[in-house]
Order: sequence, then structure tokens, then C-alpha cells
Amino acid sequence: MMSRHCTAAILVSCLALTTGSALAWHDETHLAVAKAAGYQKWYNAAGADIAKEKAGSVERKNHYCNNNRGVEVTAAMVLEQVPRYNDPKDDEGHLYGAIVAAIRAYEQRALEGKYAEYHLAYAVHYLGDLSQPLHNTPFDEFNRTRHEKNDGVVDRAVLQNVSRIQRLMRPVVLGRESFEQDLAREIAWIANDARKLGERMRKENRDMTPDEAYGQLARSAALLEAVLDRVQP
Ligand SMILES: [Zn+2]
Repeated sequence: MMSRHCTAAILVSCLALTTGSALAWHDETHLAVAKAAGYQKWYNAAGADIAKEKAGSVERKNHYCNNNRGVEVTAAMVLEQVPRYNDPKDDEGHLYGAIVAAIRAYEQRALEGKYAEYHLAYAVHYLGDLSQPLHNTPFDEFNRTRHEKNDGVVDRAVLQNVSRIQRLMRPVVLGRESFEQDLAREIAWIANDARKLGERMRKENRDMTPDEAYGQLARSAALLEAVLDRVQP
């Protein structure tokens, strides 16, 4: 009996590792970003993580970009990732393209006069993941060890601190005609800053501080606010 229990325990931890279901800002943090940005259906902001439980790699690769070569993220690189949306075979992950693809899906569905809200909820979630440093850096030993803790670094009290996120938000401007280009540039900008913060944490062998985490969340929320302003009717 003992050995059967042990095997089961090992299996469960292996599954947790391979599915990586806990690897993302935790739920309340996603909700707080959506609230700070004024998203009316903020309560849907953790939905994309719920989808991972059943859709596995099809969904999971939309939540990070490991950027294994450590290259500067550009607007062109963001747009190159769009066709990889929902591709389970893309090892590196395609978070940046997923943001654009989910917004395209939302706009397309709305144009067809169908209920489009869930596509927007995916974009809201991915925009949240964008500022998590460890979603923008290689999934190495450091990332593996520190990921869970940093995903939850401010989670416990974050919903009581939405105004702290809002105070740190700087307005982002997305043109009407140049929307996707502007969006890709802003995604790249946040991705690079998040990547650099991840590198600092790695070099100093430490977690994010709460101040750093709130600063990151404000970056996500500011871009989300600008996106909502452009795409919502
Ligand atoms: Zn996520």
C-alpha cells in the first residue's frame, strides 16, 4: 500500500510539473489587473488558466514566451507569433502573438454579430501574463524554482490594492489606424522590460519585490485599458 501511495504522489507531482497549471500570475492578480483597467467583465480574467486544465498544450503555450536566445523583442517578432496561436507544438511559447490573435478573434466574432466576450477575456488574461518577468525568460532551473512564488508574490492582498496598481499606471496611446502596429510595439516594450527584470532577479538570485510586482501589474493594466478603449464598442 505504501509504495502505491508513493507512486501516486510522484505521479501527481509529475503531472503538476508537466501541465504547469499553477504557472501564471495567480487568479486574484489577474482579476486585479482587469479591475484596475476598468474591464467590465473582470471576473473572467482568470478563465484562460481554467482552460489550460482541459486544453493542455493548446492553451498553455499562449501564456509565455521563453525567449531562449535572450533576444530583444520587437514589434515584428510579436506579429510573427500570431499564426502560432493555440499551436501545441511550439516549444518556446507565443504569448506576444496570442494577445494580438485573441483581439483579432474578438473583433472578428463581434463583426459576425456573435457573442465575442470570451475572446476578449483571453486577451485580458494574456496581457496580464505579459508583465510577469518569468513568463518572458527561459524556463531554466531558476525559473522553475522561483516561478510559483513569484506568480503569487502579491496575490493575497491584491484585490484590496487595485488603487495601488491604478496609481502606477501611465497612459498608453494606441492609434485607430495603426492599432495593431502600436499594440505590437507596446507589447514588445513591456516584454523587454519584464525580461530585463527577470534577468536582474536571476543575477541577484531573488524574487520580485512587491513594489516591482505592482509596477509590472500597472504596465499590464495600462496597456489593457488602452486596448479596451480601442476595441470595445
Ligand atoms: Zn496565464
